[in-house]
Amino acid sequence: MADDKQPVVKKGNPSKRWEKYEAGEPLKRKNPFCPKCGPGIFLANHKDRKTCGSCGYMEKTNTEPSDKKE
Ligand SMILES: [Zn+2]
Repeated sequence: MADDKQPVVKKGNPSKRWEKYEAGEPLKRKNPFCPKCGPGIFLANHKDRKTCGSCGYMEKTNTEPSDKKE
């Protein structure tokens, strides 16, 4: 049987899941998990918030804007 199926090449950026881990003992996870999706789904770090790319959950980080205009 001829196997002429071509492998499916996914376009675009993979989620780079490996970058969310830091090798070592114990294994470190850089980002927190999504409270909605549960363990395994990381929140993406943004400047002022964290978001889940899976369910759309958004969490504001407590970096308050310090606008000192005097
Ligand atoms: Zn989620």
